[in-house]
Amino acid sequence: MKTTVDSLEGNRLGLFIDGQYTAPGSGRYVESFDPATGQAWYQFAEADDGDVDRAVRSARQAFHSPAWRRMTQTDRGKLVRRLAELVLENAERLALLETRDNGKLLREMRAQMRALPDSYTYFAGMADKLQGDTIPVNKLDQLNFNIREPLGVIGMITPWNSPLMLLTGTLAPCLAIGNTVVIKPSEHATASTLALAELIMLAGFPAGVVNVVSGGGAVTGEALTRHPGIDKYVFTGSTDTGRRIAGNAANNLAPCQMELGGKSPHVVFADVDIEKAVNGVVSGVFAAAGQTCVAGSRCFVEASIYQRFVEALVARTQRITVGHPMEEGTDIGPLALQAQLQKLQHYVALGASQGARVAVGGRRPSGADLAQGWYFEPTVLADASNDMTFMRDELFGPVVGVVPFSSEEEMISMANDTAYGLASGVWTQNIDRAMRFASRIDAGTVWINTYRSAAYMSANGGFKDSGYGRRGGFDVMREFSRAKNIVIDYSGAMQDPFVIR
Ligand code: NAD
Repeated sequence: MKTTVDSLEGNRLGLFIDGQYTAPGSGRYVESFDPATGQAWYQFAEADDGDVDRAVRSARQAFHSPAWRRMTQTDRGKLVRRLAELVLENAERLALLETRDNGKLLREMRAQMRALPDSYTYFAGMADKLQGDTIPVNKLDQLNFNIREPLGVIGMITPWNSPLMLLTGTLAPCLAIGNTVVIKPSEHATASTLALAELIMLAGFPAGVVNVVSGGGAVTGEALTRHPGIDKYVFTGSTDTGRRIAGNAANNLAPCQMELGGKSPHVVFADVDIEKAVNGVVSGVFAAAGQTCVAGSRCFVEASIYQRFVEALVARTQRITVGHPMEEGTDIGPLALQAQLQKLQHYVALGASQGARVAVGGRRPSGADLAQGWYFEPTVLADASNDMTFMRDELFGPVVGVVPFSSEEEMISMANDTAYGLASGVWTQNIDRAMRFASRIDAGTVWINTYRSAAYMSANGGFKDSGYGRRGGFDVMREFSRAKNIVIDYSGAMQDPFVIR
C-alpha cells in the first residue's frame, strides 16, 4: 500500500483510516482523470460499507480517547497551528495535485493554498475561546450554567471544485473544538485530501481524529450518510445530492450543514464605470470556468446601458485565454468533468431556441492543443429572459445570461425569482440603491462593487435551495459544538421531591 501521494502517476492510493493507509475491503480501485488531457493518472480506493464503518469506529474511538478528549484547548490550538505551518510548507505540492485532479488554474490553486494556512491559524486561535454562559435563573442558591462541548464524529462530504479550501472552513474549526471527522472527498478530486491527511498525522494529531474514505457518491457517500455513528454532516455540493443526504441523515436524526448550488444574480446599474462592472461580471461567472457555487450567472443590466454593456462584455470575453491550467497565461482551463461538456452544449442550444442570442462562445475551442481536454468557450447569452431554462438551472460552467431591466422593482423581482439564494452582486455608485438591493435580495452574501471576495472571518452560507448552516467567523464554532446545561444547588435545603423546582 502506498504511504504517500507523491509520484501518483499510474499508482493506487488507499483509504486513510486510523492514521494509516489501508486497502479497501472490496479491493476495488477507480481511475481518476486529468481534465486537461482526458487521461487517467492514478487510481483511488473505493470504500464500501465495511470500510466506512471502520473509519467511523476509528473516529469514535479517537473522540473518546484520552489523547484527544483530555487534551487542553490550548494544545489543540497548537496542533491546528502546526498543521497551518505544514500546509504552507506543502502549498505548491497541494496546488499541483488539485490542478491535475480538477483542471482549475494552477495560479488560482496556488493562491488558495497559500491562503489556507491563515484560515487554519484563525480557527486555531478559537480553540481556547469557545466559552459557555452563566445563566441568571429566578432561584436562590443555584448556579445554572452552560458549557460547550464538541459534538462528536463529523461526516464531511466535499465537491471537486476547491477540495481543500472548502474542507478547511469546517475541518479547522472542528479540530479546534475537539471533534473527530470522517471525510469523503469527491471522486473527481481525491488526491489533495489524502495528502492533507498525511500532514495531519505529521502535525501530531492522534490517529483516528481524521479519516478519509474515498469513493463515489452511490457507494461510499451512501455508506457514510446512512451510518448511524455520525453526529453531524457537513455537505458541500449540488442541491439534488444535498436533498438525498439530508434524507439519509434524517433517518438517524443526524443534523446537517448544507452548502449547495446557486444561480446568483449580478446586477449592473447605469451609473457605473462600464469597464469595471464588466470586469466584475467576468470574474463573477468565468473565473474557474464558471465552476463555482457563487457564479454570477444571471446578469441584470439597466436598460439605458444594456447595449453598450453587452458589447463591452463580449469584447472582454473575446480576450479571455482558454488553455492548459498549468500555464501562467491561461484564464480559463478545462471543465472538470467530461459530462459537463454535453450539458453546457445542451443548455446553450436550448437558450438559443428559447430566444437568447449567443453573443460569444457556446462551443468547444478549436485549437488542436485543446482537442483532448474538456474545454468550453466562455459564453454570453444576450437578450435572455429570467424564465429561460438555462437561467433557472445551475449550469456550473462559463455561461452567463444577460437581461435588461427598467426599474429597481422589476430587477429585484427577477433577481429573487430563483430557487437558489447563495450569493449576489450589485454595481452602482449610489449607496442608497446598493443598500436597498442588499436588504431586499434573498441571498446569503451580497457583494457591492466587487464579486467573489471571500473571507473566513465572516459567517456565510446559503438561503433557500442553496443550503443552511453558516461557516466562517465565530458562528461556525457554535455549529460544531453543543451546549450542556449544568445546575448546582448549594442551598443545602431538603426539597419537596414531588414539585419541580
Ligand atoms: P455533487 O453533489 O455531485 O457531489 C458532491 C459530493 O457528494 C461528492 O463527494 C459526491 O461523491 C458526493 N455524493 C454524490 N452522491 C451522493 C450520495 N447519494 N450520498 C452521499 N454523497 C454523495 O457536486 P459536485 O459536482 O462535486 O460539485 C458541484 C456542486 O457543488 C455545484 O452544485 C456547486 O454549486 C456546489 N458547491 C457549493 C458550494 C457552496 O459553498 N455552496 C461550494 C462548492 C460547490
